[in-house]
Amino acid sequence: MTTMKTLTLAEPRHMVWQTRNKPTPAANEALIKIVTAGICGTDIHAWAGNQPFFSYPRVLGHELCGEVVELGAAATGFQPGQRVALIPYLSCQRCDACLSGKTNCCENISVIGVHQDGGFCGYLSVPVSNLLAVDDLPPEAAALIEPFAISAHAVRRAAVGAGEHVLVVGAGPIGLGVAAIAAAAGATVVVADTSETRGGHVRQKLGLTALNPADAGFDGALREQFNGRLAAKIIDATGNPGAMNNAVNLLRHGGTMVFVGLHKGDLVIPDSEFHKKETTLMGSRNATREDFDRVRQLMADGKLRADMMFNQRFDFSSLAETFEPQVINNPQLIKGVIDFSR
Ligand SMILES: [Zn+2]
Ligand SMILES: [Zn+2]
Repeated sequence: MTTMKTLTLAEPRHMVWQTRNKPTPAANEALIKIVTAGICGTDIHAWAGNQPFFSYPRVLGHELCGEVVELGAAATGFQPGQRVALIPYLSCQRCDACLSGKTNCCENISVIGVHQDGGFCGYLSVPVSNLLAVDDLPPEAAALIEPFAISAHAVRRAAVGAGEHVLVVGAGPIGLGVAAIAAAAGATVVVADTSETRGGHVRQKLGLTALNPADAGFDGALREQFNGRLAAKIIDATGNPGAMNNAVNLLRHGGTMVFVGLHKGDLVIPDSEFHKKETTLMGSRNATREDFDRVRQLMADGKLRADMMFNQRFDFSSLAETFEPQVINNPQLIKGVIDFSR
């Protein structure tokens, strides 16, 4: 067969099935058959029409696990039949960020599945330099290496160490990944989220303490977990300005805050608290290969599992029909993984 089924987001709120030609790999590329894909907040924003710097039509899908089926003439390091995960970031390699090794915040970054067509289709041709061998991982875990790598990058920015008291604000997929990776590093981790569904997921699947920041006793309960102290490191994965503005009030003197969740507007942080604590504040964006490798290793070691982050499966064959009722309008959904064999 030379054609494939492709799910295209034609315009906001409108997904359509198309038949497209199977791509042919260029010299340095591999053609991969998509096996599993994660559904990201970016996909949901793009569907709703509020993703910045986004153009239509677009084939979504950047959290991908596939099987190599064909290699370009100059592509080395992989064999047909091998299972791979994709690093979806294409960086320019010439801007100051790239030249200093920070390809994750490249000035000209293009993300496969966001700025160019992605993997909600049968086959995708991608540079072999953006692939990771994942034969030893379950396909659901392999699809989630990318969001876990974003979490790992935030944990690395915060330089979380063993025994440290870490507060993770927001138990969406990225916050769950942050909490699991910080715990794997030996930190004492508390997760704050106002949702009972998400709090329950933290307790059951990660075995960590979840607190509701809307509860009157939140500050006291937090200190109880941290030997009477506030947090040494706070990683915010909410993108919620109220939570982000308040974070410094939950931080101890000399502490560090990392914002991995994105808020599109301005933040208003009380400088008296910020200053007297000599706060370190950092942004965290995307991830580098080092973060992907770290996640792959944690998964291989059994320290990270797919079910720490995702809670629902979807079939690719019916996704155009299920996307609105079961993904968009589903308050129980934390993260979905798509099975392309169904
Ligand atoms: Zn994503
Ligand atoms: Zn660059």
